Amino acid sequence: MIEILNPTLLTRAKDTGALVADILQTLKSRSTIGTNLLDIDRWAKDMIVEAGAQSCYVDYAPSFGRGPFGHYICTAVNDAVLHGRPHDYTLADGDLLTLDLAVSRGGVAADAAVSFVVGGTRPPESVALISATERALAAGIAAAGPGARIGDISHAIGTVLSEAGYPVNTEFGGHGIGSTMHQDPHVPNTGRPGRGYKLRPGLLLALEPWVMADTAGLVTDADGWTLRSATGCRTAHSEHTIAITGDGAEILTLPGRARP
Ligand code: MG
Repeated sequence: MIEILNPTLLTRAKDTGALVADILQTLKSRSTIGTNLLDIDRWAKDMIVEAGAQSCYVDYAPSFGRGPFGHYICTAVNDAVLHGRPHDYTLADGDLLTLDLAVSRGGVAADAAVSFVVGGTRPPESVALISATERALAAGIAAAGPGARIGDISHAIGTVLSEAGYPVNTEFGGHGIGSTMHQDPHVPNTGRPGRGYKLRPGLLLALEPWVMADTAGLVTDADGWTLRSATGCRTAHSEHTIAITGDGAEILTLPGRARP
């Protein structure tokens, strides 16, 4: 089902988006050398509860995961890239960490992810991976103009990732979002321009380019959730929730938006 939000729900979506951005920004600032992933999860829970919001993750139990996720945020370190389940791990200098958070408030969900390097050591390979996903995300958002189709977004994202020299995985990509976290349409991270669903004002999309340095293959961790690069290489992931408007797209999960 593709959901088109009415103005009331769109206002709530902006509220949820600002909340997600705010929590992610706070957690990013606290994710330093010596921080444990379980601390990040606990802080996420506290902020979600305090805001009167609901976690989209804690009871999430899709076919590709093992039972309910059971945590409030995804924490993926180095070769982990998607669905990173928080566990007892203490962050070290130079770790590449991705935080991915989706919450719902007022009946509308928002979803965002950010990758960054912990500490003062900045491995060039990690910086390049993060930069590619951020540029791909910006290109995807820029492609979501009036009259655009999903294929235009996918093509824009895939072009940036490919030109940066990274293989593109097509198993997991962006998605519609609204009253639930994952909805149609699927937004692959590569595609053909002019193809697919034509964007309409009121549609919310979570765009999420992610890459692995030297492979498109994934392996599932022993925890039944965390997806890692098949070769052990580093990975990165950037995500925003956007609202399609009459003249383009508005980013709902930008840090620094006023939190209601
Ligand atoms: Mg998402």
